[in-house]
Amino acid sequence: MVEVHVERSRVSNPIDFDRDGRQAGYLRAPLSRNTAGWGIVEIPIVSVKNGAGPTVLFTGGIHGDEYEGQIAVSCLARTLDPARVQGRVIMIPAFNIPAVLNDTRMSPIDGRDMNRCFPGNARGTFSEMLAHFLDGFVLPHVDISVDLHTAGHSGDSVPSTNMHYLPSAAMREKTMAAAKAFGAPYNVVFWGVDEGATFTSSVERRNIISLGTELGGWGRVSIEGVRIAKRGIENILKYMHVIEGTPVTEQCDGSAATQHMMVRDPACYSFVPASGLFEPANIVGAEVRAGRPAGWLHFVEDVDREPLEVRYERDGVLWMSAGPGRVKRGDVVGVVMNEYRDPAEG
Ligand code: CA
Repeated sequence: MVEVHVERSRVSNPIDFDRDGRQAGYLRAPLSRNTAGWGIVEIPIVSVKNGAGPTVLFTGGIHGDEYEGQIAVSCLARTLDPARVQGRVIMIPAFNIPAVLNDTRMSPIDGRDMNRCFPGNARGTFSEMLAHFLDGFVLPHVDISVDLHTAGHSGDSVPSTNMHYLPSAAMREKTMAAAKAFGAPYNVVFWGVDEGATFTSSVERRNIISLGTELGGWGRVSIEGVRIAKRGIENILKYMHVIEGTPVTEQCDGSAATQHMMVRDPACYSFVPASGLFEPANIVGAEVRAGRPAGWLHFVEDVDREPLEVRYERDGVLWMSAGPGRVKRGDVVGVVMNEYRDPAEG
Protein backbone atom coordinates (compact mmCIF):
# COMPACT_ATOMS: atom_id res chain seq x y z
CA MET A 1 0.00 0.00 0.00
CA VAL A 2 1.27 3.46 -0.90
CA GLU A 3 1.20 5.87 2.08
CA VAL A 4 -0.44 9.20 1.31
CA HIS A 5 -0.91 11.92 3.93
CA VAL A 6 -4.57 12.83 4.28
CA GLU A 7 -6.27 15.70 6.05
CA ARG A 8 -9.11 14.89 8.50
CA SER A 9 -12.48 14.40 6.75
CA ARG A 10 -15.62 16.42 7.50
CA VAL A 11 -17.68 13.36 6.49
CA SER A 12 -18.59 11.05 9.38
CA ASN A 13 -18.62 7.31 8.85
CA PRO A 14 -20.66 4.91 11.05
CA ILE A 15 -18.95 1.81 9.62
CA ASP A 16 -16.08 0.12 11.42
CA PHE A 17 -14.33 -1.48 8.45
CA ASP A 18 -12.49 -3.88 10.76
CA ARG A 19 -15.64 -5.39 12.25
CA ASP A 20 -16.97 -8.77 11.03
CA GLY A 21 -20.56 -9.13 9.84
CA ARG A 22 -22.89 -6.84 7.91
CA GLN A 23 -22.98 -3.16 8.73
CA ALA A 24 -25.36 -0.84 6.89
CA GLY A 25 -25.73 2.86 7.50
CA TYR A 26 -25.13 6.34 6.17
CA LEU A 27 -22.10 8.50 5.69
CA ARG A 28 -23.03 11.95 6.95
CA ALA A 29 -21.71 14.90 5.01
CA PRO A 30 -22.33 18.37 6.46
CA LEU A 31 -24.34 20.72 4.23
CA SER A 32 -25.35 24.10 5.54
CA ARG A 33 -28.49 25.29 3.76
CA ASN A 34 -31.32 27.80 4.17
CA THR A 35 -33.56 25.29 5.98
CA ALA A 36 -30.80 23.96 8.25
CA GLY A 37 -27.44 25.53 9.02
CA TRP A 38 -26.38 22.27 10.67
CA GLY A 39 -27.94 20.08 7.98
CA ILE A 40 -26.40 16.86 6.69
CA VAL A 41 -26.61 14.73 3.56
CA GLU A 42 -26.84 10.97 4.16
CA ILE A 43 -25.09 8.55 1.80
CA PRO A 44 -25.88 4.81 2.03
CA ILE A 45 -22.92 2.52 2.71
CA VAL A 46 -22.77 -1.19 3.48
CA SER A 47 -19.78 -3.25 4.61
CA VAL A 48 -19.85 -7.03 4.71
CA LYS A 49 -16.83 -8.70 6.27
CA ASN A 50 -15.95 -12.18 7.30
CA GLY A 51 -12.45 -13.03 8.48
CA ALA A 52 -9.29 -12.33 6.54
CA GLY A 53 -9.20 -11.84 2.79
CA PRO A 54 -9.12 -9.17 0.11
CA THR A 55 -11.30 -6.07 0.13
CA VAL A 56 -13.45 -5.22 -2.86
CA LEU A 57 -15.02 -1.77 -3.26
CA PHE A 58 -18.07 -1.27 -5.49
CA THR A 59 -19.22 2.29 -6.16
CA GLY A 60 -22.20 3.54 -8.16
CA GLY A 61 -23.80 6.91 -8.74
CA ILE A 62 -20.66 9.03 -8.88
CA HIS A 63 -22.57 10.46 -11.82
CA GLY A 64 -26.21 10.79 -10.79
CA ASP A 65 -27.87 9.88 -14.10
CA GLU A 66 -26.08 6.54 -14.54
CA TYR A 67 -28.41 3.89 -13.26
CA GLU A 68 -27.17 0.35 -13.92
CA GLY A 69 -24.39 0.50 -11.30
CA GLN A 70 -26.71 2.05 -8.71
CA ILE A 71 -29.15 -0.83 -9.23
CA ALA A 72 -26.56 -3.61 -9.25
CA VAL A 73 -24.53 -2.35 -6.26
CA SER A 74 -27.62 -1.65 -4.13
CA CYS A 75 -28.98 -5.16 -4.93
CA LEU A 76 -25.72 -6.68 -3.72
CA ALA A 77 -25.65 -4.38 -0.67
CA ARG A 78 -29.14 -5.54 0.35
CA THR A 79 -28.56 -9.25 -0.19
CA LEU A 80 -24.91 -10.21 0.37
CA ASP A 81 -24.77 -12.75 3.20
CA PRO A 82 -21.61 -12.42 5.36
CA ALA A 83 -21.52 -16.23 5.64
CA ARG A 84 -20.80 -16.35 1.88
CA VAL A 85 -17.89 -13.93 2.19
CA GLN A 86 -14.22 -14.52 2.92
CA GLY A 87 -12.71 -11.04 3.19
CA ARG A 88 -14.55 -7.75 2.89
CA VAL A 89 -16.93 -6.04 0.47
CA ILE A 90 -17.61 -2.30 0.77
CA MET A 91 -20.59 -1.08 -1.23
CA ILE A 92 -21.56 2.55 -1.89
CA PRO A 93 -24.35 2.35 -4.51
CA ALA A 94 -25.19 6.06 -4.79
CA PHE A 95 -22.12 7.94 -3.64
CA ASN A 96 -23.00 11.29 -5.24
CA ILE A 97 -26.47 11.21 -3.69
CA PRO A 98 -27.33 14.88 -4.43
CA ALA A 99 -26.73 14.23 -8.16
CA VAL A 100 -28.47 10.83 -7.95
CA LEU A 101 -31.65 12.34 -6.49
CA ASN A 102 -31.41 15.22 -8.98
CA ASP A 103 -30.92 12.74 -11.89
CA THR A 104 -27.96 14.67 -13.27
CA ARG A 105 -24.31 14.05 -13.99
CA MET A 106 -23.24 17.18 -12.13
CA SER A 107 -23.89 17.87 -8.46
CA PRO A 108 -26.78 20.32 -7.95
CA ILE A 109 -24.96 21.59 -4.84
CA ASP A 110 -21.74 22.90 -6.34
CA GLY A 111 -22.25 22.32 -10.07
CA ARG A 112 -19.21 20.04 -10.18
CA ASP A 113 -18.59 16.72 -11.93
CA MET A 114 -17.47 14.61 -8.96
CA ASN A 115 -15.39 12.44 -11.25
CA ARG A 116 -13.22 15.48 -11.99
CA CYS A 117 -12.73 16.34 -8.27
CA PHE A 118 -10.27 13.65 -7.13
CA PRO A 119 -8.28 13.32 -4.94
CA GLY A 120 -10.57 15.96 -3.45
CA ASN A 121 -10.22 18.55 -0.75
CA ALA A 122 -11.57 18.31 2.81
CA ARG A 123 -12.24 22.06 2.84
CA GLY A 124 -13.31 22.36 -0.78
CA THR A 125 -16.76 22.26 -2.37
CA PHE A 126 -19.29 19.56 -1.45
CA SER A 127 -18.17 17.23 -4.27
CA GLU A 128 -14.50 17.80 -3.43
CA MET A 129 -15.21 16.99 0.24
CA LEU A 130 -16.87 13.68 -0.72
CA ALA A 131 -14.08 12.83 -3.17
CA HIS A 132 -11.53 13.49 -0.43
CA PHE A 133 -13.35 11.12 1.93
CA LEU A 134 -13.52 8.30 -0.63
CA ASP A 135 -9.87 8.72 -1.56
CA GLY A 136 -8.46 9.15 1.93
CA PHE A 137 -10.74 7.05 4.15
CA VAL A 138 -12.09 4.22 2.04
CA LEU A 139 -9.40 3.48 -0.56
CA PRO A 140 -6.65 2.67 1.99
CA HIS A 141 -8.70 -0.44 2.94
CA VAL A 142 -9.21 -1.59 -0.65
CA ASP A 143 -7.48 -4.14 -2.91
CA ILE A 144 -9.68 -3.71 -5.98
CA SER A 145 -12.11 -0.94 -6.87
CA VAL A 146 -14.92 -1.35 -9.39
CA ASP A 147 -16.59 1.98 -10.17
CA LEU A 148 -19.75 1.52 -12.21
CA HIS A 149 -20.62 4.12 -14.83
CA THR A 150 -22.60 4.57 -18.01
CA ALA A 151 -22.61 7.38 -20.51
CA GLY A 152 -25.54 9.00 -18.65
CA HIS A 153 -27.60 11.44 -20.68
CA SER A 154 -24.46 12.46 -22.60
CA GLY A 155 -24.28 9.31 -24.73
CA ASP A 156 -24.70 5.58 -25.03
CA SER A 157 -22.04 2.90 -24.60
CA VAL A 158 -21.50 -0.76 -25.41
CA PRO A 159 -21.52 -2.73 -22.13
CA SER A 160 -17.84 -2.69 -21.24
CA THR A 161 -15.25 -2.39 -18.53
CA ASN A 162 -12.44 0.11 -18.96
CA MET A 163 -9.02 0.90 -17.57
CA HIS A 164 -6.10 3.16 -18.25
CA TYR A 165 -2.99 2.04 -20.07
CA LEU A 166 -1.00 1.76 -16.83
CA PRO A 167 2.75 2.43 -16.93
CA SER A 168 3.46 -0.71 -14.85
CA ALA A 169 3.17 -3.84 -17.00
CA ALA A 170 2.42 -5.93 -13.89
CA MET A 171 -0.51 -3.69 -12.85
CA ARG A 172 -1.73 -3.58 -16.43
CA GLU A 173 -1.83 -7.36 -16.61
CA LYS A 174 -3.53 -7.65 -13.20
CA THR A 175 -6.16 -5.13 -14.24
CA MET A 176 -6.76 -6.77 -17.61
CA ALA A 177 -7.18 -10.14 -15.86
CA ALA A 178 -9.73 -8.60 -13.46
CA ALA A 179 -11.57 -7.06 -16.43
CA LYS A 180 -11.68 -10.44 -18.14
CA ALA A 181 -13.15 -11.94 -14.96
CA PHE A 182 -15.81 -9.19 -14.82
CA GLY A 183 -16.92 -10.54 -18.17
CA ALA A 184 -18.40 -7.60 -20.08
CA PRO A 185 -18.37 -8.07 -23.87
CA TYR A 186 -15.50 -5.57 -24.14
CA ASN A 187 -12.71 -4.21 -21.96
CA VAL A 188 -11.41 -0.87 -23.21
CA VAL A 189 -7.86 0.26 -22.46
CA PHE A 190 -7.59 3.97 -22.95
CA TRP A 191 -5.61 7.09 -22.18
CA GLY A 192 -8.67 9.20 -21.55
CA VAL A 193 -9.45 12.87 -21.67
CA ASP A 194 -8.62 15.02 -18.61
CA GLU A 195 -7.98 11.89 -16.54
CA GLY A 196 -5.82 13.17 -13.65
CA ALA A 197 -8.81 14.23 -11.55
CA THR A 198 -10.92 11.08 -11.96
CA PHE A 199 -11.59 8.50 -9.26
CA THR A 200 -9.76 5.92 -11.38
CA SER A 201 -6.60 8.04 -11.23
CA SER A 202 -6.91 8.30 -7.43
CA VAL A 203 -7.20 4.52 -7.16
CA GLU A 204 -4.20 4.04 -9.43
CA ARG A 205 -2.07 6.49 -7.41
CA ARG A 206 -2.51 4.13 -4.46
CA ASN A 207 -1.46 1.14 -6.52
CA ILE A 208 -4.90 -0.48 -6.18
CA ILE A 209 -6.52 -2.34 -9.08
CA SER A 210 -9.06 -0.02 -10.71
CA LEU A 211 -11.84 -1.05 -13.08
CA GLY A 212 -14.41 1.28 -14.54
CA THR A 213 -17.48 0.32 -16.50
CA GLU A 214 -19.63 1.85 -19.20
CA LEU A 215 -22.91 -0.05 -19.27
CA GLY A 216 -25.41 2.02 -21.23
CA GLY A 217 -26.62 5.60 -21.19
CA TRP A 218 -29.18 7.74 -23.01
CA GLY A 219 -30.87 8.50 -19.69
CA ARG A 220 -32.49 5.07 -19.57
CA VAL A 221 -31.84 1.79 -17.76
CA SER A 222 -30.22 -0.71 -20.13
CA ILE A 223 -31.57 -4.20 -19.35
CA GLU A 224 -28.41 -5.78 -20.74
CA GLY A 225 -26.30 -3.26 -18.82
CA VAL A 226 -27.92 -4.27 -15.52
CA ARG A 227 -27.44 -7.97 -16.33
CA ILE A 228 -23.75 -7.45 -17.14
CA ALA A 229 -23.30 -5.29 -14.01
CA LYS A 230 -24.87 -7.83 -11.65
CA ARG A 231 -22.99 -10.72 -13.20
CA GLY A 232 -19.73 -8.76 -13.30
CA ILE A 233 -19.94 -7.85 -9.62
CA GLU A 234 -20.43 -11.51 -8.66
CA ASN A 235 -17.63 -12.48 -11.06
CA ILE A 236 -15.18 -10.07 -9.41
CA LEU A 237 -16.04 -11.46 -5.96
CA LYS A 238 -15.40 -14.98 -7.30
CA TYR A 239 -12.21 -13.92 -9.06
CA MET A 240 -10.88 -12.39 -5.80
CA HIS A 241 -11.94 -15.56 -3.89
CA VAL A 242 -14.21 -13.46 -1.68
CA ILE A 243 -17.12 -15.73 -2.61
CA GLU A 244 -16.94 -19.25 -4.00
CA GLY A 245 -17.26 -20.09 -7.66
CA THR A 246 -15.75 -19.42 -11.06
CA PRO A 247 -16.56 -16.29 -13.07
CA VAL A 248 -19.21 -16.82 -15.76
CA THR A 249 -18.18 -14.92 -18.89
CA GLU A 250 -20.11 -16.38 -21.84
CA GLN A 251 -21.16 -13.64 -24.24
CA CYS A 252 -24.40 -13.22 -26.15
CA ASP A 253 -22.60 -13.79 -29.47
CA GLY A 254 -21.42 -17.21 -28.30
CA SER A 255 -17.83 -16.18 -27.57
CA ALA A 256 -16.34 -17.32 -24.29
CA ALA A 257 -14.63 -14.19 -23.08
CA THR A 258 -14.22 -10.47 -22.93
CA GLN A 259 -12.53 -8.86 -25.91
CA HIS A 260 -9.74 -6.45 -24.97
CA MET A 261 -9.96 -3.24 -26.99
CA MET A 262 -8.20 0.09 -27.01
CA VAL A 263 -8.86 3.70 -27.88
CA ARG A 264 -5.63 4.31 -29.68
CA ASP A 265 -5.39 8.08 -30.18
CA PRO A 266 -7.31 11.37 -30.06
CA ALA A 267 -8.57 10.83 -33.61
CA CYS A 268 -10.80 8.05 -32.21
CA TYR A 269 -12.96 10.79 -30.67
CA SER A 270 -15.41 12.59 -32.98
CA PHE A 271 -16.21 16.14 -31.86
CA VAL A 272 -18.89 18.28 -33.46
CA PRO A 273 -17.57 21.50 -35.01
CA ALA A 274 -20.74 23.51 -34.37
CA SER A 275 -23.83 23.53 -32.16
CA GLY A 276 -26.95 21.99 -33.64
CA LEU A 277 -29.28 19.02 -33.79
CA PHE A 278 -27.27 15.83 -34.26
CA GLU A 279 -28.59 12.91 -36.29
CA PRO A 280 -26.32 9.92 -35.55
CA ALA A 281 -25.51 7.42 -38.30
CA ASN A 282 -24.77 4.43 -36.05
CA ILE A 283 -25.61 2.87 -32.74
CA VAL A 284 -22.94 1.60 -30.34
CA GLY A 285 -21.32 -1.71 -31.24
CA ALA A 286 -21.47 -0.92 -34.99
CA GLU A 287 -18.39 -1.31 -37.16
CA VAL A 288 -17.47 2.08 -38.54
CA ARG A 289 -15.02 3.37 -41.16
CA ALA A 290 -12.78 6.41 -41.35
CA GLY A 291 -14.23 9.00 -43.73
CA ARG A 292 -17.76 7.66 -43.34
CA PRO A 293 -20.38 9.82 -41.63
CA ALA A 294 -20.74 9.62 -37.84
CA GLY A 295 -23.85 11.72 -38.35
CA TRP A 296 -25.23 15.02 -39.51
CA LEU A 297 -25.68 18.33 -37.74
CA HIS A 298 -28.99 19.91 -38.66
CA PHE A 299 -29.71 23.62 -38.37
CA VAL A 300 -33.49 23.57 -38.29
CA GLU A 301 -33.61 27.23 -37.31
CA ASP A 302 -32.37 28.15 -40.83
CA VAL A 303 -34.61 27.56 -43.86
CA ASP A 304 -32.21 26.44 -46.58
CA ARG A 305 -29.07 25.58 -44.65
CA GLU A 306 -27.51 22.22 -45.58
CA PRO A 307 -26.76 19.77 -42.74
CA LEU A 308 -23.08 19.40 -41.82
CA GLU A 309 -21.62 15.91 -42.13
CA VAL A 310 -19.43 14.79 -39.18
CA ARG A 311 -17.04 11.99 -40.17
CA TYR A 312 -15.16 9.28 -38.32
CA GLU A 313 -11.40 9.60 -38.51
CA ARG A 314 -10.66 5.96 -37.62
CA ASP A 315 -11.95 2.50 -38.55
CA GLY A 316 -13.17 0.41 -35.62
CA VAL A 317 -16.12 -0.41 -33.41
CA LEU A 318 -18.27 2.37 -31.99
CA TRP A 319 -17.75 2.27 -28.18
CA MET A 320 -19.70 5.42 -27.29
CA SER A 321 -22.26 7.34 -29.27
CA ALA A 322 -23.94 10.72 -29.01
CA GLY A 323 -26.56 11.22 -26.36
CA PRO A 324 -28.82 14.23 -26.58
CA GLY A 325 -30.20 15.35 -29.92
CA ARG A 326 -29.08 18.93 -29.39
CA VAL A 327 -25.31 19.14 -29.07
CA LYS A 328 -22.84 21.96 -28.52
CA ARG A 329 -19.67 22.72 -30.45
CA GLY A 330 -16.92 20.55 -28.94
CA ASP A 331 -19.25 17.77 -27.71
CA VAL A 332 -18.11 14.21 -28.36
CA VAL A 333 -20.57 12.30 -30.57
CA GLY A 334 -18.57 9.11 -31.06
CA VAL A 335 -15.62 7.17 -29.65
CA VAL A 336 -14.11 4.42 -31.79
CA MET A 337 -12.22 1.46 -30.33
CA ASN A 338 -9.93 -1.14 -31.90
CA GLU A 339 -8.55 -4.51 -30.94
CA TYR A 340 -5.98 -4.21 -28.14
CA ARG A 341 -2.34 -4.25 -29.10
CA ASP A 342 0.24 -3.25 -26.52
CA PRO A 343 1.80 -0.05 -27.91
CA ALA A 344 5.02 -0.88 -26.02
CA GLU A 345 5.36 -3.87 -28.38
CA GLY A 346 5.04 -1.52 -31.39
CA1 CA B 1 -19.91 8.35 -16.26
